[in-house]
Amino acid sequence: MNNLTVDVFKGKEASVNSYIFSNGKSILVMDVLRSTEDAKELAEFIKSKALPLTHILITHGHPDHYMGMDYLKSVFPEVKIVVSNEETKQDIISFSTWMDGIGWLEGEPNLKPKSDKNPEGFDYENQIKVLEGNTFTLDGGGTLEIKNDYQAAEAEHLTTVFSKDMNALFTSDFCYNGVHLWLGQGVGATHIANWKTQLNRFKKQYTNANLRVYPGHGSESGIELFDTVLKYIEDFERTIVASSNREEARKEMESLYPNWEQAGFLLMHSVDNHMGLKEGK
Ligand SMILES: [Zn+2]
Repeated sequence: MNNLTVDVFKGKEASVNSYIFSNGKSILVMDVLRSTEDAKELAEFIKSKALPLTHILITHGHPDHYMGMDYLKSVFPEVKIVVSNEETKQDIISFSTWMDGIGWLEGEPNLKPKSDKNPEGFDYENQIKVLEGNTFTLDGGGTLEIKNDYQAAEAEHLTTVFSKDMNALFTSDFCYNGVHLWLGQGVGATHIANWKTQLNRFKKQYTNANLRVYPGHGSESGIELFDTVLKYIEDFERTIVASSNREEARKEMESLYPNWEQAGFLLMHSVDNHMGLKEGK
């Protein structure tokens, strides 16, 4: 027995989650929020556990899952930042390079990719390591099963974590719960088709009614969350087809999902992207 436990830390920006795994001897944190501001609160929470933070695992190359890493590294200098494959590392570098290019990192200068122009920037290439193998054992025991052989969906590459001890699946952004999905830039028709296929695979693979499902955004749930997300995607697709403009599409989704968070950010970008794709045809 290794008594693995998990704490959820909910970020303010983008309603994104950090998951703090512990065996009572050390800590691994999965995903580290959208901003340095949120990461400061996360760091306080981790410190309150009074255990060494050994690893930060980033599940995919979207900034709401990795922007806090520079701050955490400054508070926990021994921590190793890891991803499950080289592709995810390159996704992170590409996203930050793109954000830097359009001025989106002016508020987070420490996350600008380190270069001659930005000598104080973040050294993504050397700071982010690629894990070997498809399991991760915490210092002191407790094993997480790591999977990344997925088709491009919400992101080009996604990592999930399963814990047999906790009977828990950490889906990263394959699942959202009570938070509008990201179907924005980078999530086209093929990604959506792959996403739905994968949700149906999860449904076939995880039939244990007691399984806990921890989404990338929003609250934990049971296996019914796979159906909730599938239905959301289908509602979204239908809404895009039926709507004659962006505002109509947004309003329809907001009326179908009145209490879901991030309508002004995630839903807005998702509608813009797919109405744009529709108009482009
Ligand atoms: Zn996300």
